[in-house]
Amino acid sequence: MRVIACGTGMPTTRAAQAAACFLVELGNGDKFIFDIGSGSAERLSSLQIPYDFLDKIFIGHLHADHFGSLAEIFIGGALMGRQKPLRIWGPNGPVPELGTAYAVEKMQEMYTWDLSGRVGIVDFRGYSIEVNEFDYTVENAVIYEDNGVTIRSFPAIHALDGPVSFSLAWNDLKFIFGSDTYPNKWFIKYAQDADIAIHECFVAVPDLVAKMGFTPDSALMVGTQVHTAPEAFGKVMSAIKPRMAVAYHFFKDFDTTPAVNDRIRTTYDGPLSLAEDFMVWNVTKDNIRVRMAVVEEATWSPPLVGTPQAPGGNHDRQIFSESAGVPMDAMLYSDFIIGGRWAGVDEVLRGIYKDASETLGQEFPYPADQENQGN
Ligand SMILES: [Zn+2]
Ligand SMILES: [Zn+2]
Repeated sequence: MRVIACGTGMPTTRAAQAAACFLVELGNGDKFIFDIGSGSAERLSSLQIPYDFLDKIFIGHLHADHFGSLAEIFIGGALMGRQKPLRIWGPNGPVPELGTAYAVEKMQEMYTWDLSGRVGIVDFRGYSIEVNEFDYTVENAVIYEDNGVTIRSFPAIHALDGPVSFSLAWNDLKFIFGSDTYPNKWFIKYAQDADIAIHECFVAVPDLVAKMGFTPDSALMVGTQVHTAPEAFGKVMSAIKPRMAVAYHFFKDFDTTPAVNDRIRTTYDGPLSLAEDFMVWNVTKDNIRVRMAVVEEATWSPPLVGTPQAPGGNHDRQIFSESAGVPMDAMLYSDFIIGGRWAGVDEVLRGIYKDASETLGQEFPYPADQENQGN
């Protein structure tokens, strides 16, 4: 089992740390994403993994710092080669409006213009989402089981009803991801004996005041009641005794990390990683190695798994029109806009088509010469 931190930060964005996201890769070839916080899509792309393998996302709760990059992996992931729907697992809420299905449906609606401009002219298989919403009150119930991998959910305590934590079991190894939670009895019970247990650990209260401008009252509330204080993180880990405890959800700077570490060490003396982006844990039964990934920041699309399909044209537009409620003719340029094309570039663009036809030994007709100019 290999775990890669693709986001370890906070809701306030910074280039040095994306928000919550952990990738789990298994020796059977399966890969699972846990949370997809703001900025994490760039981290995932830096790993250069074919996007067909990045199709399963488990969302612990619906704060932006835990699913803010969903649109980027949905649309950008399809553009970079995912040839199948994105699959999402996440909790319901006390009412439908607070559940994962609602959030994902509204996100797709928000991108109606974006999708309307792509449908018909690209391989559209990657531009859909399958949502698997489950009951947030289930205690250690199986929400995913395939290929020897079992993923379970149990409740978390954070902001509102709805948040959950996850466990993943494979090949006699146990991975735990807390997402965000106040220390709770379910985590103590179901994370027992984890090989690797990831739990939030917030910035120490004095630094919330000094660095983030919190008032002492709000620093105490957010740093100890809404989130898990470092001292409380240590208590949790002392109770569950993982082979590796991973603390995340704090800004890991030279002047704030010592406080987090020292406070954890008042209550926990076991194996500990203070996570930062691109930290990697290789987990076997004998050993856990912690290293930093070497990544490609100037990313292009990774290799494809399957062969791309030809664009679906009006066939795809018809299907999208029915589901999104956008009329067919609104998915093409109007005569008004086509009439605004500047003919001054016609000659150079024709030259590009001519060059491609000659170089590749295949006829590429120039679009303006075609019957239906479309877009
Ligand atoms: Zn949260
Ligand atoms: Zn959070």
